[in-house]
Parts: sequence; structure tokens; C-alpha cells
Amino acid sequence: MPMSKLELILKTRLICDIYELSERLELNSLVTEQALQAAQKLPLLFPESIIDRVQKGDPNDPILLQFLPSLQELEETPGFSCDPLCEQTLNAPPKRSGLPSCIMQKYYGRVLVITTNACACQCRFCFRRYYPKNRVLLPLLASADERAERESESDSDLDVDKVFESVRNDDSISEIILSGGDPLTLSNDKLKLLLHYIGSIAHVKRVRFHSRVPILSPQRIDGNFPTIEDFLPLNTGDSRVLHLVLHVNSPNEIDENVAEALISLRRKGFVLTSQTTLLKGINDNVDTLATLYEKLINLGAFPYYLHQLDRVQGAAHFETPVTVGREIIRRLSEKLPGYAVPRYVREIPGRLMKTNLFNDLDSN
Ligand code: SF4
Repeated sequence: MPMSKLELILKTRLICDIYELSERLELNSLVTEQALQAAQKLPLLFPESIIDRVQKGDPNDPILLQFLPSLQELEETPGFSCDPLCEQTLNAPPKRSGLPSCIMQKYYGRVLVITTNACACQCRFCFRRYYPKNRVLLPLLASADERAERESESDSDLDVDKVFESVRNDDSISEIILSGGDPLTLSNDKLKLLLHYIGSIAHVKRVRFHSRVPILSPQRIDGNFPTIEDFLPLNTGDSRVLHLVLHVNSPNEIDENVAEALISLRRKGFVLTSQTTLLKGINDNVDTLATLYEKLINLGAFPYYLHQLDRVQGAAHFETPVTVGREIIRRLSEKLPGYAVPRYVREIPGRLMKTNLFNDLDSN
């Protein structure tokens, strides 16, 4: 079957068929049938590029568990919701902030752009799984033909100038965060266009990407991928920062191809950090996270956040008690250099900063 446009950008096939995944990973028929049932609610999306990093025949493999539909997702759990961070309310048009529907401001000095709904995978714990499909930037970056196709689906403004007008007019904003979906599902040309555009706003000094793609499909970081030069306005001598936060949850996700991609990103001028979600049965122990963080710092990617799970309906089986998370951080602090220990945080809607779940007092 010919590859889709998204697959061509990601440079990997995306497996959506549970039978195919089961066969290739030698999963038994019970696991397969259960996955089929759960996938009716939230479909499978598994990048072929990561399949060799999964242990065949093991339904509890830490990579597979992040993407394989499970019957536990169908359980309704009190305290879990479809919009745990209240983003859909915050971002519902019309917005009092005057920001367009693809831009959110949660914290001072930074705005977050929902670039696209597309991803290279479907994480089973994704807190944006219910996010409205029409509040994204992508249609604005599309070609005229693509735009005409999508226009009816979008409630965004249709002019990039107009989208960023409020950012241009607010010099308190020094950082733009490109999120999604995954911004690296946009083509290199579209990313360059976006960086060039943002680069023309003098007070925006930093662009931060949040992405799983360099880990899942490292071949996406090719010779034509944007560099810091795409973000620097010509002849100004201005200092700017391109920052990429890698989303990575298991040390098994990092192989030699990923290592090459991270080195290449650094050569292109990206500052690399990482964020990890604390996930029961996947990384809720010191040894796993210590191995992950050692691998990352050896590649020049500094652990930034360890996130407590956002309480999205269908993901309760991944939740790890905060007491466990605190103990992990305490023990990591004894094993690793300070710069290799992330901040253990939770996002609480409406708060003007992330909530730190660990401080030294916790360890007493
Ligand atoms: S990569 Fe991020 S946005 Fe995409 S499915 Fe996973 S958690 Fe959700």
C-alpha cells in the first residue's frame, strides 16, 4: 500500500491494524482480541519504526504497553475526565484573551500553539485525546489546495499574520511553544515557514518544540530538517534559542538510531531536554528511570520534567501514587548528578505554574 502523506513526512509506516501488530510481535489471541475490543473506542496507531525495540511475545513490554489498546481503558474511573487540564474550556472560542483558537496562554511570557492534531502514535494515556480537531494551526500553514479542503473543518483564523497578531502586539511574550498533536508531523518546509515567521517577531527569543518523533522515528531528523538559522532574522546578530523537549518514557526507546538523531539535532542548534510521564508498569521504578536519564544526559538531553499522570478518562490504570513518585525522585537524587534529576510535577488547571511534587522536606 502506498504511504500516506503523514507517513512520508515521518518516514515510517503507521500500523493501525491490530492483527498485523499482533502477528509481528507474536502476541497471543487473548491479548489480540482484547486490544481489538478496546481499539473501538480509541484506535491503534503504532509507528513501524519502533517495532524492533519491542520484545516479541511480551504483552507487558514497556514500549508496547504505551500503545496497545487494553480493556482497562473502557473502565470509567471517578476523578478522571475527558479534559483533565481544562484546556477545552480555556481554549473555547470566543476567547476573552483575544488569542485565536489554536493558541493558549497558561503561563506568563509563554504561549502554546496547537499546531496539529496529527501524531506519530496514539499513546493510551494521552490527555489531549479528546481535544477538538478544529482548533489547530495546521490549516494556516497548508498550501492553497490543502487549505480549501480543510477550511470547512476549521474555526481558526485563516491568516498566519492574523494568528500571531496578538503575539506580535504583546512584548511580554518571549517564548512560543509548539505542541499538538506533534509539531514534527508538519513537513520541513512548513516548520521552516513557521520558524521564519516567528523569527520576525523581535521579542520572541525562544521556540520550544514538544515532540515524540525524534524518539519514535529518528529518521525524521533528516538533512533538510530546520536549524537555528531558520529562526534567526537576517543580519541582526540577535540571540535566539531553539529548544526541543523529547517525550520519552522508557530507556528501551533509545537505540543507536535515536542517538544519531539527537546528536544531529544538537548540531542543528537545538537545545535538548526531556519529559517523561510516570506510568505504572512502564517506568515506575528507580532503576528504569536512572537508566533512561543516564542515556539521555550522555546524548546531551537534560531531564526537565517527570510528570504525574494527567487524569484523563481511560488512563487510570497507568496512575502511580505520588508517594511512589517522590521516593523515586529521592533515590534518583542519590544516584545521579543534580542536572540528571527532573522536576517531579503535576499541572493543575488555573495555576500560573506547574506544581512541584517533590522538595527536600518530602524525603524526611
Ligand atoms: S505523542 Fe503526545 S499528543 Fe500524541 S498521542 Fe502521544 S501523548 Fe498524545
